[in-house]
Amino acid sequence: MLNLFNKALSLPEKTAIIDSEGSHSFQKLNTYSDQIASFLLQGNPDLNEKRVAFMVNPDFDYVKIQWAIWKAGGIAVPLCITYPLPSLTYVIEDTQTEIIIAGPEYVELLSKYAKEKGIRFLNLSDLESSGSSPILPEIESSRGAMILYTSGTTSLPKGVLTTHANIESQISTLIEAWKWTEKDHTLCLLPLHHVHGIINVVSCALWSGATVEFLHPFDAKQVFGKFLEGKINVFMAVPTIYFKLVSEFESSSEKEKDALFECMKQFRLMVSGSAALPVSVMEKWKAISGHYLLERYGMTEIGMAISNPYEGPRKAGYIGKPLPGVKTRLVDEENRPVDSGQPGEIQIQGPSVFKEYWGKPEATAKSFTSDGWFKTGDVAVIEEGYFRILGRDSVDIIKSGGYKISALEIEEVMRKHPLIKDCGVVGIPDEEWGELVSAALVTQEPMDLKVLNQWMREQMPAYKTPRKYLILNELPRNAMGKVVKNELKKLFNQESK
Ligand code: ATP
Ligand code: MG
Repeated sequence: MLNLFNKALSLPEKTAIIDSEGSHSFQKLNTYSDQIASFLLQGNPDLNEKRVAFMVNPDFDYVKIQWAIWKAGGIAVPLCITYPLPSLTYVIEDTQTEIIIAGPEYVELLSKYAKEKGIRFLNLSDLESSGSSPILPEIESSRGAMILYTSGTTSLPKGVLTTHANIESQISTLIEAWKWTEKDHTLCLLPLHHVHGIINVVSCALWSGATVEFLHPFDAKQVFGKFLEGKINVFMAVPTIYFKLVSEFESSSEKEKDALFECMKQFRLMVSGSAALPVSVMEKWKAISGHYLLERYGMTEIGMAISNPYEGPRKAGYIGKPLPGVKTRLVDEENRPVDSGQPGEIQIQGPSVFKEYWGKPEATAKSFTSDGWFKTGDVAVIEEGYFRILGRDSVDIIKSGGYKISALEIEEVMRKHPLIKDCGVVGIPDEEWGELVSAALVTQEPMDLKVLNQWMREQMPAYKTPRKYLILNELPRNAMGKVVKNELKKLFNQESK
């Protein structure tokens, strides 16, 4: 991980971070993280992969603590700041955390628990008073650096252990592919307990000597306000954020729209990922900003693997091509490569691939093939060299009447209906068909489902058209804005009781 600190050391005066308190230079980040590292070490030469969990708002404090943990030889366990106590204790216990650090907002929530469990508890405000300059341990790149939890979209979140070498590979691959430089200035709206925010945005930027500006909590109007300041040139978000920004844009005055368009046109790069980007959102974003969003595919376990090109055509509905250094293949249920043009599970190899699911040797073993490929569980097809995601084998590939149907493809069609605001398609167990294609909808206004069904039948073959519909006020989504399909299935089951 030393590379991360090297670049920062060579640009001491430059602004590393901007948050609600102001600007913070790389020198300040280095000095403060050194001091906290010495506080954490307290007489020990090395934290030796002790897990240090921290619950801190996404700002300068967050980054200085993360750097301090790495400098002291610990494993960083970032906690989600919106989780209730039981979800936090799940992570703390699962990682056998030995030190907890809490920002002032979270001290009350965590200090009592830490005391009860005998875990060393540090209040962020106390850390700031330490002043000594530490002797830091040498860190081998094969050592554990971080445990990030998966989004919990399909089951309980799994703790993914990555080494310094894994993280270095994830970051350097992206810096190269997306051409990060110290001239860049990015706005981070994403939570930092997840790979998207902490690796792709914050770590790539700081490694390159670029500036990260934090805005928290999310507010679409304020995001546009930041854009209009004219400093930001790189922006990354999840599809739900782009969706909200499009709505905000549509409700702006003509004058504001013109100003925003002019400003966004100057951006160097705008990226979407973590969930499928609806083609409609991609098209609307192009109209309001002049940018084809760069859609890409990654996972907590592998960092970024497949991406539309930085230069060259970005195809709506596609995740692009494998990044340099990432080996990919598509396979059938027996792990045999599929014929060209056929759907198959994406499997990955390369230095970015994680070390293990923390404390779950069986789950780790099950997620790799005998010849060392990581099984993503995502099904895709390659068309004209570009990967197109059909969905997760476990929840999005619906097995009905002998067919394998992609929920994502059906959702894409449904979104074209002018009265449909949001939708999620799942398979509901059925004796006759195996699974029934079932669609949950959020609509602009009350809809006649018979008319909708007729419309769907005109768009796609009969076997793909939903057999069941359920109107909801909103879809169940997790902290990353992903639709939790198992929750949707439960809602359908309750409905049919
Ligand atoms: P869990 O593993 O706990 O069920 P999760 O898989 O959502 O949660 P993450 O590691 O955050 O946890 O997400 C990785 C997954 O996100 C991928 O396996 C894939 O299903 C989905 N994903 C990421 N990018 C895209 C994309 N561009 N299009 C479609 N799906 C995507
Ligand atoms: Mg997953």
